[in-house]
Amino acid sequence: MNGESHGSGASRRALAVAGIGPYRSLSTFLASSTYARRQNEPGICDFTLGNPHQMPPQDYVEALRGAAVPHSDQWFAYKQSTPEAREAAAASLRGHLGIPFDPVDIHLTTGGFAAIALALKTIADPGDEVIYTLPPWFCYEPLVVEAGLVPVKVKARLETFDLDIDAIRAAITPRTRAVIVNSPNNPTGRIYPPVLLEELGAVLEKSSAATGRRIYIISDEPYNRIVFDGAHFHSPAEFYPYTLLAYSYGKTHLSPGQRLGYLALPSELPGREQLGEVITALQVAMGWIYPNAIMQYALPRLEEFSIDIGLLQRKRDRLAGALEEMGYRLIRPEGTFYLFVRSPVLDDEAFAGILAARDVFVLSGTMFETPGFFRISLTASEEMVERSLPAFAAAFDQAAALVG
Ligand code: PLP
Repeated sequence: MNGESHGSGASRRALAVAGIGPYRSLSTFLASSTYARRQNEPGICDFTLGNPHQMPPQDYVEALRGAAVPHSDQWFAYKQSTPEAREAAAASLRGHLGIPFDPVDIHLTTGGFAAIALALKTIADPGDEVIYTLPPWFCYEPLVVEAGLVPVKVKARLETFDLDIDAIRAAITPRTRAVIVNSPNNPTGRIYPPVLLEELGAVLEKSSAATGRRIYIISDEPYNRIVFDGAHFHSPAEFYPYTLLAYSYGKTHLSPGQRLGYLALPSELPGREQLGEVITALQVAMGWIYPNAIMQYALPRLEEFSIDIGLLQRKRDRLAGALEEMGYRLIRPEGTFYLFVRSPVLDDEAFAGILAARDVFVLSGTMFETPGFFRISLTASEEMVERSLPAFAAAFDQAAALVG
């Protein structure tokens, strides 16, 4: 449908964004599903979104409270990326990834969403193709289309949830400008191993040379501190210099309503000074997409702690163990908030309905363009986890009876 036939005055691009399948299923789910009606009922087990289900830690509250007290008359003046916040973020990245980052190459944004949008618009022209892997975070497609770009979707290897490098190689065309890599991955929880990232870098290097056009990686890594069993996260930036790194503090502190993140350019990224100038212009032109002053002042303190990863891991182990015993098939996540579980019946939406009828709410694999699965968010409370177990068991038995 174009702007004329819609009759609303909406632009073609706005209509294209609003009409995107994954975006529509998410917005319908949030606006008019059984979940939308029942989400505030005390008796439900809410495993849907990565939202908190317990009071925020005192440290987080204190960090924001301290930042809200003005130290000067300029405290709440227009802020671009403040030097203290950039310094703290760059130091933390250097520590976590072991590669150089300069504070001036940290471009603070209103969360990971804006960092990805900024990365796309910095390097890609309308009509360029952007490759990403299914199952994806469901907002890649709206972000890509809104930037005037073309999404190219490649399936992950469902037996390991790894990147399928051959499929990515096959999807590259002369119009390919970027590959979005999301590790630790939402929804699978997979952390891509260094050998795979190295292989991807080699493929992109070769393909860029062959087409005469540089292909960038946009490394979307908001979960890079949320890893289990002492796993070590590796960023694609360690293996491929043409990587732009998007990060959000919303996951590290389980506080997605407080918008804070950044787009970081590793020191080895060729052309980063010129790209930095362009990014500054874009951040203004895209609507002053800098975090609020209070979030910027709080950032150095926020770098010093995170949510309780041990608690998340215990919830993962409790749920994964219990589900496996019931007969569910899953690969235990190495990081993130999520379990991506095989649905016991092919129709994952019907199965999500069976669970919902028992007060347990999950997201269907179909919402991640990967039918046959469902996603559980481990941000549910421990009490919800315990209360859900009989319902998961009964739903599995009900599904088995249907199948068989
Ligand atoms: N990237 C991934 C993979 C995500 O899961 C999310 C949020 O769910 C984001 C980016 C955006 O993060 P934020 O809402 O903190 O901007």
